[in-house]
Amino acid sequence: MSDASTKSYLWCDPCRRSFSHADAPEGDCPVCGTPMREMGKMAAVLRGLMATELVASDLRIKHRSLVRMIWTRNGLGEGYYRVLEPDMTYGRFESRVTDLVCRGAEEGWITIQIPAAPTLDDDDYKIVIHDEDRFIDEMHRMVEANRKKRK
Ligand SMILES: [Zn+2]
Repeated sequence: MSDASTKSYLWCDPCRRSFSHADAPEGDCPVCGTPMREMGKMAAVLRGLMATELVASDLRIKHRSLVRMIWTRNGLGEGYYRVLEPDMTYGRFESRVTDLVCRGAEEGWITIQIPAAPTLDDDDYKIVIHDEDRFIDEMHRMVEANRKKRK
């Protein structure tokens, strides 16, 4: 690991908290997907204190990772990536689609199904998309918007 990545942190303005480089290999916030800026450890700690970092944030990150693990299962993440050919790294694409799945769940057109207790049966964990047209449409729009921005 380089000197910079062990001594610096990444700061997310919307979430008002810091992440280590290991938490965000692409430099995007693992919670909201916003590109983050680098800052020294001390500055990140001070900013965190000022923003009174929420203890629940770690739960949110884990919850989001679980959502990501569910929708990318069985090679589906790579499958979408191959078909859409987005102008971004796979990691960033995964993060963007995870945002979309979370938003869909918030808005009610996607259901994230998690069993009452951890189970060995992977099929108990699933993402049910009630409006597939909308999902495909939004995924397409996200990829196109990114393409335009890059040009
Ligand atoms: Zn954030």
